[in-house]
Order: sequence, then C-alpha cells, then structure tokens
Amino acid sequence: MNTSATKSTESTAFRSALDVIRGVEPRVADAIGQEIADQRASLKLIASENYASAAVLLAMGNWLSDKYAEGTIGRRFYAGCRNVDTVESLAAEHARAIFGASHAYVQPHSGIDANLVAFWAVLSQRVESPALQRAQVRHVNDLSEQDWAQLRRELGDQRMLGMSLDAGGHLTHGFRPNISGKMFDQRSYGTDPATGLLDYEALRKTAREFRPLVIVAGYSAYPRLVNFRIMREIADEVGATLMVDMAHFAGLVAGKVLTGDFDPVPHAQIVTTTTHKSLRGPRGGMVLCDPELAEHVDRGCPMVLGGPLPHVMAAKAVALAEARQPDFHAYAQRIVDNAKALAEGLMRRGARLVTGGTDNHLVLLDVSGYELTGRQAEAALLDSGVVTNRNAIPQDPNGAWYTSGIRLGTPALTTRGLGVSEMDEIAELIDIVLRRTEPATAASGKPSKAQHVLDEAVSAQVARRAADLLAAYPLYPTVDLG
Ligand SMILES: *Cc1c(COP(=O)(O)O)cnc(C)c1O
Repeated sequence: MNTSATKSTESTAFRSALDVIRGVEPRVADAIGQEIADQRASLKLIASENYASAAVLLAMGNWLSDKYAEGTIGRRFYAGCRNVDTVESLAAEHARAIFGASHAYVQPHSGIDANLVAFWAVLSQRVESPALQRAQVRHVNDLSEQDWAQLRRELGDQRMLGMSLDAGGHLTHGFRPNISGKMFDQRSYGTDPATGLLDYEALRKTAREFRPLVIVAGYSAYPRLVNFRIMREIADEVGATLMVDMAHFAGLVAGKVLTGDFDPVPHAQIVTTTTHKSLRGPRGGMVLCDPELAEHVDRGCPMVLGGPLPHVMAAKAVALAEARQPDFHAYAQRIVDNAKALAEGLMRRGARLVTGGTDNHLVLLDVSGYELTGRQAEAALLDSGVVTNRNAIPQDPNGAWYTSGIRLGTPALTTRGLGVSEMDEIAELIDIVLRRTEPATAASGKPSKAQHVLDEAVSAQVARRAADLLAAYPLYPTVDLG
C-alpha cells in the first residue's frame, strides 16, 4: 500500500477535504491539520489509543452520516436505508468471521454504549419483567414516569460481579460514577496482593456467596491474560451469565494472539468491545453474543441507543476488513512483543512492574520506587515528550486521583512501526526521567503529591531523543498535507 500512487491519492483526499472545510470555518481545518502534526510529534504510550488507517478515517466523512436508520436490518423505523443495510451487514459479517461469533451488533456508538446494550440484553433475557418488555418496543422518550417506576420495581436489585477498579477493571463494570453502578448491586473481585494476578479461587468463593446474575470479565489496566474458560466454569456453577468486555484487547483476539482459554468469544455468552483501541478502527463499540441473546441485543436501538451512526458503521466494516488480512496477525503479535520488550527494559533498569511483567499490550509501572506519585510521573514524562497516563495500582496508597502507577501501552507505537529495540530506548528514556524527577515541596513543607521538579536540561534532552526515535518512523507516511 505504501506506493507513491497511494501516497498521492491519500494526500489529495485529505488536502481536498481540508480545503472544503477551510472555506466554511478555517479554524476547524486548522485544528484538524494541527492534530496530525501533534500526533506525529508525540511518543504515544496511551494503551487505549491507536492510529486508524486513511481508509477508515475517510469512510467516516460522507453522506452516510445524513441518514437515520433506527432499528435493525429488515426492521427499520425509517425508509430508504438500503446503503446503511449494506455497510451494517458488512461490518457484522466481518465481525462474525474474525471472532467466530454467531451474532454481531455493530451499532453501539462507544464502549460504554456497548456495555449498556449488553446489560439490558442480559436483564431482559434473564429477568421476568413486563415493564421491560413494554419499554423495549417503545421509544425511550415515550416511557412515562410510571413505566420507569415499574421497571425499577420489577428489575429489583440484580447483582453483578466485576473486576475491581484498582485491579484494572472499568467504571462501566458496576461502579458508582457510572449508570451500571446504579442499575446493579455490585460486588468486585480483585487480584492476589502477593502476585498481582487474578485470584480465581477467591472469585469463585465470592461468586458462590453473592450469586450474581452476571459476571463481568475484562479490564483496562491488567497486564496479564485472563482465563475465560475458568471464568465460564465459575459463572455456570452459580448460574450467572458471563460477559466479557474486551475493549482493550480485541485487537489481540482478532490477530489470534489470544486463543484457546484466553479468547473470550467461545467462552462468554456475551462479549462487548470498543473498535478504536487495539482493533484500530473508528471510535465506536460492538456486541457479540450467543444466538439466545441476539434478539435482546438487537433492541439496543432504541432501548439504549439513538439512531445508529451509519458512517461509523462503514468505517467499522473497513477496519474489520483490514483486521481479516494476514498482516493484522503479525501486527497483533508485534504489539505483545513490544510490550514485553518495554517491560524487560524497565525491569532491567530496576523498575517495579505490577505482576512483574506483561503478557498483553500494556505495562503497569509502579512509580512509588521512584518516590513519585502517578500524577507527578505522568507530568514529568509529558514535559519530556513521552505521553502516558497515570493509573491506580492494586491497593493504591495514593488513591484514584494521584495514583502510584503509570500505564503504558504499545498498540499505537506498533502501528507506527517501532519495534523491540526502540522499546528498550523508550524504557531508558522513561527511567531517566523518573530517576531525575523529585516531588516539589508543598506549602506545608511536606513533599507534594501533585507538583514535581525536573531539570529542564534533562527533559529537553529526553524530548530530543524521543523526537529522533519518531523521526525514523513517520506517522501516516502516505499523507502529505503540503
Ligand atoms: C475504553 C473502555 C470502555 C469504554 O469505551 P468508550 O468508547 O470510551 O466508551 C469500556 N470498557 C473497557 C474495559 C474499556 O477499556
């Protein structure tokens, strides 16, 4: 694809699009142009981000966006949906083929929405509720106060067992700041304090006591593999539905790096994902499920979602077509090789990693050994041109705001072409910055948890080395905006 013909075609496409936008609101065109410049200049280790292809990006900017298509293929609330039907069925077909799923629902606008669709699907499949049945055939806006009150009475306090936030779980797995924490009576499972690894026996014990309706597996910050065969065994034992949220690692499943017990699709009754993280598609979500849940999942719109985003479904179809190519397998394997190399590079320099390494696309670095909070480490690295995000570690003494960890992920830099030797250089840069950073002194005379001190000469030198690394691997090499 990296031919000069592609290069000029893609450049022309984006240049022309920006010219058209500039004619109406030049500041938007400038911001879009600035965004690619910023992304090209940043060493991005955000584990949840990636770079979608030009084809994926372009599939989103067109007339499909103008169409309303509430409902599902063959059962739309609007006329004239044949082209939406085409892209939606292509996306679903690719998704079923890649993941070996019997059903795929590609409408969710985001990962959060995919989870809401899945929760409602499980509730409507498992809980006898006339109010819920009525709600599902009507538009949400048509539900009265009484309808909602009855819905709440009938659904009662259904139980969910999800991975705790500080062990790497996600807000949407039943935690208070998210609606899932209000829909369900939630209890969480965590990791073994000694090893940092998931403790399946403790989980089994909690499940037996708590008897949840649904067990949610999946994470945003756990650096190891999850054995979904064991998770299903536990769910079956207590009569729970197993739902897996593979938002972070769907690309590793698509690329066949996670197989057997570690592939969630054959084990879970329902699987949700984002499409923009390791899967490298447009921002969006998706639900895969067993045939028994399909009709419930398909009521996602209008139960939870408004009209689907046909332009984004088109981009999902393109991204999933890309993920079916053999080179996607190599990409997924390189993500993991790079994460392992980054982990080893850090450990060799004395850093402490949660669980002592990684088996997937992310590394959780405990920065307390550098006598810093996650917030200080994140800011010092950003000063030095290295973009990461702070993250709580299990039993974090600094809580979820300051934290004691930094999460590092390799999907984006792997797309860019960086390999294991560059990961070692990056480990060195991170180690230099964190060694040379100190907490500032707060007004009280104690070390601050928020502010840090780092010699500007050090951050400038690291930023130069980071820029040199990036210069060798241009981002979007086929796009020249002139
Ligand atoms: C990122 C993520 C989500 C949310 O995805 P959005 O598209 O941001 O709504 C849900 N679950 C997990 C596990 C995630 O990592």
